[in-house]
Amino acid sequence: MKGIDSLTGFLDRSGCLRTATQLVRDLAASGQPLAVLWFNLDRFKQVNESFGHIGGDSVIADIAIRFRARTSGRAELSRMGGDEFVCLVPECDRIQAQQLARELMNTVEEPLTVGDLVLHPTASVGIAIYETGEDPLELLERADRAMFASKGKGGNSIVISGDEPVPGRLGILLAREELSIENSLHTAFETGGFHLHYQPILRADGSIEAVEALMRCTVNNQTISPGKFIPVAEKTGLITRLGEWSLLQGALQARTLRDAGCPTKVAINISRAQLVSPKFSNALHAALLCANIQPDLIELELTESLFMDISETVQKNLKSAIKAGISLAIDDFGTGYSCLANLKDIPARKLKLDRTFVTVLPDDSRALAVVQAVTQLGRNLGMTVVAEGCETQKQNDALLNVGVDAIQGYLHAYPMPGEDLIAWIQERKQP
Ligand code: C2E
Ligand code: MG
Ligand code: MG
Repeated sequence: MKGIDSLTGFLDRSGCLRTATQLVRDLAASGQPLAVLWFNLDRFKQVNESFGHIGGDSVIADIAIRFRARTSGRAELSRMGGDEFVCLVPECDRIQAQQLARELMNTVEEPLTVGDLVLHPTASVGIAIYETGEDPLELLERADRAMFASKGKGGNSIVISGDEPVPGRLGILLAREELSIENSLHTAFETGGFHLHYQPILRADGSIEAVEALMRCTVNNQTISPGKFIPVAEKTGLITRLGEWSLLQGALQARTLRDAGCPTKVAINISRAQLVSPKFSNALHAALLCANIQPDLIELELTESLFMDISETVQKNLKSAIKAGISLAIDDFGTGYSCLANLKDIPARKLKLDRTFVTVLPDDSRALAVVQAVTQLGRNLGMTVVAEGCETQKQNDALLNVGVDAIQGYLHAYPMPGEDLIAWIQERKQP
């Protein structure tokens, strides 16, 4: 039926606008307040990617049933398409609107089973209260904008229209810097401004455990650090192309090293944005094929949260890499949301302890205790433990004392271009 959404039985977008217009007309006469609550589910794209559209639809239908039960005639419910719901609530002021929004957020969060998984969805909510004489469309748009502001805060929150943070001067400057970096990335693609540098990782006996490929970007003789350009590449989707390029370059470097008589594992950093793409496996296999190397010459460095990602594509990509014989390493371990309990379930052969623990050695006894415990645990789980960011001999001694397997850091070598790497390795081989 026109005006009704077939999946939920709620009003659809046009039905919502018609009803809002009617309510505004009625309430204008009575002087009662009217609230619009705009809901958008968080990470719904991930649900669709993991479970397909049938799974996504079942989540929407379940949430709709919960909304209906909780509002019981108090509100006109609409589905604005996708994962967006709007509640038009007559005789509802700002405080009551917040209360209702919270109740509905709680009901969204109740566990929901899809396939063999239990999800705990959350929602971002925007609220707008009708202002005398306001156009109903503008009222809806204000609620939508407030919802966007809630997403901008990281989701799972309520923003009331009028309370949105105004982008300050710093925000504008940051946005400009991002645009300028994005521009530089495009130029770098056109002018061959990307390079990989390689940093050796050394075992206690001085032999090379692996080399880590680290991306460099130079535009108009200016270098941009990966800490700045990788996040922009991830945000803009350019990382897919960049990631494919680094996989191939890293694999070619592994062949060059092998052909030069010094076969060495090349570790390549992989972003979440790459691993959520169904194209990742193809790019990985294409790189191996093109470079014509054994898979054990490649290692992928991923942060811990990626191993715990439940999305089907990520799981498939990880399995496919392991099946092909490529080893995986947990990068930056100890930062973010590391959880020791997860370690046993992670199919990685290597654990890279983050630089923050190493920098404070040997004086910080608590950091030393953490390094010691994690090293022991990693080794008990059969993993190779690597410490990142070692800059001094004292740090090196402390790390070797607690038994880490290998060390990476400026003390031993700075990241260097591929051409210099072979010379560096061969020099070390000389007696
Ligand atoms: P990461 O993977 O943890 O790489 C190690 C970082 O530590 C590198 O920074 C390296 O130059 C730096 N480092 C190594 N030894 C020392 C040391 O002794 N002291 C200090 N202070 N730093 C040291 P870099 O090259 O700036 O890269 C930063 C991050 O950017 C990397 O951290 C990685 O997360 C990301 N990244 C770099 N290249 C790529 C890439 O090709 N793809 C992706 N997705 N991310 C990359
Ligand atoms: Mg790394
Ligand atoms: Mg790291």
